[in-house]
Amino acid sequence: KAARERREILVEYAAGEVIRNQIPGTRELLTALFAPLTLGTRVLGVISIQSAAPHAYGDHERLIFRNICAYSAIALANASHYQLLSVSHKELVAAQEELERLANFDALTGLCNRRLLDRTAKAEIGGATRSGLPLYVLMIDIDHFKRVNDSYGHSAGDTALKTLGMLLVENLRPRDTVARYGGEEIVALLPETEEKTALAIAERLRQTVASQNIEHGGIHFGLTVSIGVSRWHASEPTIDAAFARADEALYLVKNCGRNAVMFSGDGNS
Ligand code: GH3
Ligand code: MG
Ligand code: MG
Repeated sequence: KAARERREILVEYAAGEVIRNQIPGTRELLTALFAPLTLGTRVLGVISIQSAAPHAYGDHERLIFRNICAYSAIALANASHYQLLSVSHKELVAAQEELERLANFDALTGLCNRRLLDRTAKAEIGGATRSGLPLYVLMIDIDHFKRVNDSYGHSAGDTALKTLGMLLVENLRPRDTVARYGGEEIVALLPETEEKTALAIAERLRQTVASQNIEHGGIHFGLTVSIGVSRWHASEPTIDAAFARADEALYLVKNCGRNAVMFSGDGNS
């Protein structure tokens, strides 16, 4: 009633009077004071104080009670605002994370995008410079991918790209970076890897892709990839020259009939 009518209610019984609504087993409370917790036009709740003494609350007590109610309403409103603020803060953080993901990862394949690849390559060059260990680049391009799109449709092509991305991630170390470099070109960075190993990995990836059956809307088809391999050299300030060499090697594979791995000859190795 105090909440509904937004007013203070004092309930008083005389000693010995039968108290209505008394909870069995509890003390007889002869005085009860109720007041709504209001903030502007909103009622946030009701507070009640109760006493076993008759006429326990005079003007003085009621004034104190009113003060407690006013402060409580403000505290309660603050708490609920704080809660709202923390919910919207969480939403903001989630939105920021989503933006970060969109800015760094390719939407179709989930692989790193060019932007993240560039950042990672810089970091890997730093790491390789410090450790003195080799850093290899694989440039992977789907063979005759246009034919996949033309024969089975663009969405089958998308499925093929996604499958290829997954295969590469599954077959490389978590330490390696796999990025969508262009439309159907994928770059892998292999840090701390020797030449023999890098070539063996590239060859294994080629075979894995060639033996994979891709399914899209009931259609089954296969894919092959051509892979150009290059090594980053300690004298090079960026990864760009290594990318260019891998690309040249890839171009050679394409000219030699595709579905193969080639290492770039650059005079250094
Ligand atoms: P090659 O063996 O010489 O590489 O032949 P190719 O047909 O793969 O030739 P190219 O690399 O020039 O063609 C790339 C094709 O990849 C063209 C484009 O339609 C397709 N492509 C690029 N991005 C996507 C994509 O996100 N989804 C689909 N479905 N196709 C894509
Ligand atoms: Mg291609
Ligand atoms: Mg291409």
